[in-house]
Amino acid sequence: MNKKMGLTTKIFIGLIVGLIVGLILNKMGPSTFRDKFLVDGVFTLVGTVFLNAIKMMVVPLVFVSIANGAASMSDIRKLGRVGTKTLAFYLVTTAVAITIAIVLSIVVQPGMGLDMSALVKTEPTIAEAKPLVKVISDMVPTNPVAAMAAGEMLQIIVFALLVGVGLASLGDKVKGVVAIFDQLNELMMKMIGFVMLLAPYGVLCLIAKTFTGLGFSAMVPLAKYMFCVLFALALHAIITYSGMLVAFTRLSPVKFFKKFAPVMGVAFSTASSNATLPVTLEATEEKLGVSKSIASFTIPLGATINMDGTAIMQGAATIFISQLYGVPLSLSAILTVILTATLASVGTAGVPGVGLIMLSMVLQAVGLPIEGIALIIGIDRILDMSRTAINITGDAICTIIVAKSEGEFDEKVYNSEVVEKSIA
Ligand code: ASP
Repeated sequence: MNKKMGLTTKIFIGLIVGLIVGLILNKMGPSTFRDKFLVDGVFTLVGTVFLNAIKMMVVPLVFVSIANGAASMSDIRKLGRVGTKTLAFYLVTTAVAITIAIVLSIVVQPGMGLDMSALVKTEPTIAEAKPLVKVISDMVPTNPVAAMAAGEMLQIIVFALLVGVGLASLGDKVKGVVAIFDQLNELMMKMIGFVMLLAPYGVLCLIAKTFTGLGFSAMVPLAKYMFCVLFALALHAIITYSGMLVAFTRLSPVKFFKKFAPVMGVAFSTASSNATLPVTLEATEEKLGVSKSIASFTIPLGATINMDGTAIMQGAATIFISQLYGVPLSLSAILTVILTATLASVGTAGVPGVGLIMLSMVLQAVGLPIEGIALIIGIDRILDMSRTAINITGDAICTIIVAKSEGEFDEKVYNSEVVEKSIA
């Protein structure tokens, strides 16, 4: 690779090369060289080192970033306002996302005329819906260190928020601690920069590994369902996100996607909002012009609770399964799907594959057979990758809108040409 080439271009090339290599290896069929040396050897090694390095940053980053974000809000009222706006945007965009997926699936009818027996592969895992009391009480950790060790994101967020609010209300008395959090935040960003140097190679290996195992042929019988999900994801990105950006901020969506594409590439290859978090945060602050105090609060929150792409899959999958089993959904059942899928996507952890498990909650809510999940499990990885890219895009769009409304946004940075980090 050219030494002067920027990181963005390198990640993109890694993605394409990984795809091509994976598809070629899939066609070649099993061999010791392919399976032992490449897939289990080189791809797993480089891919896992990259993933581990990026995951390593998540817990300290969420803690430092949210505490720092809350501490830097000038007053508690501002924190409340930003929090309310952010939650409202996150929930509304998720509901819109599911609606798009449901309407599209009703029109395309992906589940008509399929031989189900040919598709069933594995037993699905079932997610039991937790009672609301438990959902809420579980958000408060009894031991913050244990929460961090276990990577319990919502618990870490609650603890970090409390630290931040405490610092904000103590004001000048804790100037020193606030400065430490600020500097720790800088340090996190620097470390993320280092980890990202691995990104192009990590992305290449992760994608090559996935496609060696998957190939295109596995996808043929489910092509219509996949089309519904992918098309709804694209519509949501192009219409909802671009529309919102123009309507609320008058900013250019083209500029946004140009600058945000590498982050989407990382989300696509890792299939994890959490793992992408460091990169999302860096891009929104440094390339898109959102102030640290807003981004460091809304982006980690979004990575944990805002999953528009996941909701799209859940909407499309529910309609698909209802068509396969010949159980038409009434209007009130469809509204139930919109509501439960919004909640299910809030409860989905930002790690690979969880969206599919949470789908069982949605299916249960409208009395559809959970076994339906077994039909789509085989091809879910590719959809997981795609929906994760949309999940984190939604976080960034809402963040920009909230930041602009709070006067915490630097339009010059947003409109500047992408300054590529040269790895020369
Ligand atoms: N992988 C998704 C994410 O991390 C969650 C899911 O839909 O499974 O955002």
